[in-house]
Amino acid sequence: MDPPATAQMVCHVLLIETDNGLVLIDTGFGSHDCADPARRLGPARYLIRPVLRRDETAVAQVERLGFRPDDVRHIVITHFDADHIGGLADFPHAQVHVTSTEALAAMQPQSWDEKSRFRPIQWAHGPKFVEHNPDGERWRGFAAAKELSEISEGIVLVSMPGHTRGHACVAVDTGHRWVLHAGDAFFHHSTLDGESRVPRIVTTWESLIAFDRKRVHENHSRLIELYGRGEADLLIVCAHDSTLFERALATA
Ligand SMILES: [Zn+2]
Repeated sequence: MDPPATAQMVCHVLLIETDNGLVLIDTGFGSHDCADPARRLGPARYLIRPVLRRDETAVAQVERLGFRPDDVRHIVITHFDADHIGGLADFPHAQVHVTSTEALAAMQPQSWDEKSRFRPIQWAHGPKFVEHNPDGERWRGFAAAKELSEISEGIVLVSMPGHTRGHACVAVDTGHRWVLHAGDAFFHHSTLDGESRVPRIVTTWESLIAFDRKRVHENHSRLIELYGRGEADLLIVCAHDSTLFERALATA
């Protein structure tokens, strides 16, 4: 994505090979978004300015790896924003896992803000949603978590509302380390590492689109604390920071 006055953003998704087929964490934009951005994305496309190249979609990359789209059996989504679920229709046979709260926010929006941010056309193909209520299974100090053991051990949904009503992060045990995909719980690596000042445009944007700003700040504090522990077997990434994406690739 290439929003005005800020650096380009990636849509970082994860693809996991499990004994139970391929699993995607988020989808980014999909081929249908590339084909018909006006209907699929609405006016927001002028703000976020997605590149929308089919060869960058998750389905194109899955195919390049030698798999078929049907090999993706499960998709876990952090939330329902268009840049995270646009690719669902490219994997129509996959079960889609999401928090119950987020499903409710998307299907029964409670405010104009919620109604206008989600794009029902992106799930009009009728995927099988599997709703979860993460509570009570701790993951590294986060109390509201749930291992999605029906998919595979080592995939944990960590509730982190704030950006949207039912936003969640997804922690994945990759064998030699855990990867915490934080979705849109934060946007810029400096939020965690303090390497530089987070650009004002990013903090403004993050506040403007937050469902609950106070919780977004609380989430930042919790993630800063987790990052600050310096645990060698944990990599934290978010959906849109290209620096974290490059670092993840470099240390894969
Ligand atoms: Zn996003």
